[in-house]
Amino acid sequence: MSADPEDAVLVCALADSPLVVPGSIFTRHCSTCNRRVMIAPSGQSLLRRLPVARILCGACFIQNAKKYDALEIKLAADPQDIAIEARASVPNFWRKRN
Ligand SMILES: [Zn+2]
Repeated sequence: MSADPEDAVLVCALADSPLVVPGSIFTRHCSTCNRRVMIAPSGQSLLRRLPVARILCGACFIQNAKKYDALEIKLAADPQDIAIEARASVPNFWRKRN
């Protein structure tokens, strides 16, 4: 299994999703549909480690799932950290703006 960083994909929620993890940023876009996404702190830390990671929204990832079949799927952070983020989700007050 190739671990080429060029193959890394960060799957993100769209910026207008109903819930948001505190500390998320809204400055990046899906590399396929160009819609604005939100990147939680765990994803931001992945991008610091792997700046070449391709950003995809969930819908584009699902539509292109076959293309990514061969890739090793990893979480952006430790599962415990992702669980903590998920539990900290709050309504997305930026939804209308995004
Ligand atoms: Zn997309």
